[in-house]
Amino acid sequence: VAKDSGKGQYAYYRSGMKTRVVEQATLLNGLRQALNERQLHLEYQPIVRLSDGAVIGVEALARWRDPTRGVVPPARFIPIAERSGLILPLGRWVLDQACRDASRWQRLDPVREQFTMHVNVSAHQLREPTFTADLHKALTDAGLNPAALVIELTETAMTDDPATVETVHAIRELGVRIALDDFGTGQSSLAILASCPVDVIKIDKSFVDQITGSDRHAAVARTVVQLANSLGMETVAEGVESAVQARHLHTMGYRQAQGFHFARPLVPDAVDLLLE
Ligand code: C2E
Ligand code: MG
Ligand code: MG
Ligand code: MG
Repeated sequence: VAKDSGKGQYAYYRSGMKTRVVEQATLLNGLRQALNERQLHLEYQPIVRLSDGAVIGVEALARWRDPTRGVVPPARFIPIAERSGLILPLGRWVLDQACRDASRWQRLDPVREQFTMHVNVSAHQLREPTFTADLHKALTDAGLNPAALVIELTETAMTDDPATVETVHAIRELGVRIALDDFGTGQSSLAILASCPVDVIKIDKSFVDQITGSDRHAAVARTVVQLANSLGMETVAEGVESAVQARHLHTMGYRQAQGFHFARPLVPDAVDLLLE
């Protein structure tokens, strides 16, 4: 494209690239500082049971509020953290903090002892040799029952390289469950289901968005829940924004859901109030 559109365009493209590289480097420095100075925090989005709307757990979502940049969304800083390796200390912090909060909320749990904490873990973290030991320590330090924790992995993180497969097994041996996040958006969703020990499927928002408007999407979403049931897996629908979607999903057989229709991600104090 740059070659065809003449010299001026090419120079413009180059300077755009440079700006982007500088911007990423600045963002990385800012993120490193934010992590050291504890400017990151977690918000928690409720996960509800579709049969009665009870809050049965939450998903921890990392937040970065920078004094000059304002709120930087995870879609911007998580990829930078992954490329730089900063995701390792960041991910350890998320796990520690989420386990401590979960341990408190488990005691407030209205549905008694079923409260689950979902934590996103990236491929890079999973490949770190100390991951299982760090996870064990986070649970022990927080006094959290492993059965209350769900590790969310995307299809791209669930590769079949032996080290990853071994870690996934080790996580489950601790009694922690595994959820496949953004299900249906990857390249090999079915291959993963056939070969990996997964406890929970989270069907991606892109399917939920279309279940009321597209028969084909609805058929796929229905088949996914049937597949999950026949494999003995729990199901969560992501990004539910309307009562109509919630009803459809429940009728299809989805048991749990998450989305702005039920609740936005909340600061920890708001979760305390919700559970009390
Ligand atoms: P995710 O794990 O799929 O998390 C769900 C995302 O969907 C969250 O975005 C949540 O705020 C958003 N969401 C939930 N319900 C709705 C809805 O009804 N409508 C819409 N439009 N959005 C909804 P968020 O917090 O911006 O996070 C984006 C992604 O960043 C996450 O996607 C996850 O992949 C990643 N992420 C966030 N925190 C962490 C973390 O601590 N570690 C890692 N490795 N990744 C994280
Ligand atoms: Mg997730
Ligand atoms: Mg997701
Ligand atoms: Mg997603």
